[in-house]
Amino acid sequence: MQSKHGGRGKPLREPTRWRITVLSDHFQAILQQLTDQSLRRSLSPLESATGPIVTYAGRPVILLSSNDYLGLATHPDVVQAAVKATERYGAGSGASRLVSGTLPPHANLEAALARFKRADASLVFGAGYLANIGVIPNLIGRGDLILADRLCHASLIDGCRLSQADFRLFRHGDCAHLETLLRRRTSTRRTLIITEGLFSMDGDLAPLADLVELAERYDAMLYVDDAHGTGIMGATGRGTIEQFGLEGRIPFHMGTLSKALGSYGAYVVGSNDFVQYLLNVARSFIFTTAIPPAITAAASAAITVVEREPERRDRLWANRQHLFNGLQNQGFRLTPTVSPILPVLIGDAAKASAFADRLLAHGVYATAIRPPTVPDGTSRVRFTVTATHTTDQLDEALQAVTLAGRETGLL
Ligand SMILES: *Cc1c(COP(=O)(O)O)cnc(C)c1O
Repeated sequence: MQSKHGGRGKPLREPTRWRITVLSDHFQAILQQLTDQSLRRSLSPLESATGPIVTYAGRPVILLSSNDYLGLATHPDVVQAAVKATERYGAGSGASRLVSGTLPPHANLEAALARFKRADASLVFGAGYLANIGVIPNLIGRGDLILADRLCHASLIDGCRLSQADFRLFRHGDCAHLETLLRRRTSTRRTLIITEGLFSMDGDLAPLADLVELAERYDAMLYVDDAHGTGIMGATGRGTIEQFGLEGRIPFHMGTLSKALGSYGAYVVGSNDFVQYLLNVARSFIFTTAIPPAITAAASAAITVVEREPERRDRLWANRQHLFNGLQNQGFRLTPTVSPILPVLIGDAAKASAFADRLLAHGVYATAIRPPTVPDGTSRVRFTVTATHTTDQLDEALQAVTLAGRETGLL
């Protein structure tokens, strides 16, 4: 593919028509293969704003598939902040942050994040994906070693690939396995351990205290992705690191603005030097346009709400317990989750898809998560609950889950 489609040196010889035909065959063959394996993905457009109830295919359904855990994507203060910032600063930022794209909302957000995360400084990226592929290759490189939890998010894996470091996966949450791998390396080898704080597809926590200890003992760096923990974990919502009482022991980490904070983008926090280093070297920061004023201001407003309305977190955890108990009492097999992420393990991709289809027929929108998002044989329907669901909605959803479970032979 490389040399034929624009690689250096070799001119394209085939006429355009011929190539398009062949490409189209290729696309169709791949899509057919995915369909046959029940791994085909498609977009399901909603016809309303996100929220506990959304309109899908012309009717209201209970949404149990959103990462907007605190309902901040539609919080009036957050929405107003976005509107005001757009009126004042325009729809776009105009350039990369380093060219002329740094506007007051960017500086305000980075100050708010540094304060919220109790760090010296922060740097905002266009997305969590961009943060991970930008940061990791600047921590570690060719000849070095990365040890990553097996269930790490694709953006972390892609960051590892870009770094060109040697790359091993340790068994999920298994510090003994990690230690074996650490012992096996030559001691001078620069090493980066990578984990999520709250795992996005299993809903469990990393053994963060043990990971910090191993990193310290074996002189390795530790990179924590707290995309899902930010805003919901810890006594004040500062995230998984707060939850474990490890603030001050982890020199830098990242999280996103796109989940509990209801906006878009991502942050990295750390020392001033670290942030200055990143803004000089992280290609996914340098060569991309600054995030728009609206979403920047929305994220700042969301941090204020997280701090001012702790009752949202209380409602989230109460709802989480309600749905968790309901699913367990019905006899579903869940991952060892401790969070609002409640994955019902099914295994087979076709069965997971069928379960999700039946749920939708009964008015519940929850997505089947299949490989490559999760390992082969661990397909699931991943329910996520939010602070804005009412108990009645959750009870109604549980009835639908029972029906769909029976119809697909899971119960
Ligand atoms: C969602 C997610 C990301 C990607 O963040 P985006 O802002 O959506 O690009 C990265 N890491 C983890 C663990 C995530 O769950």
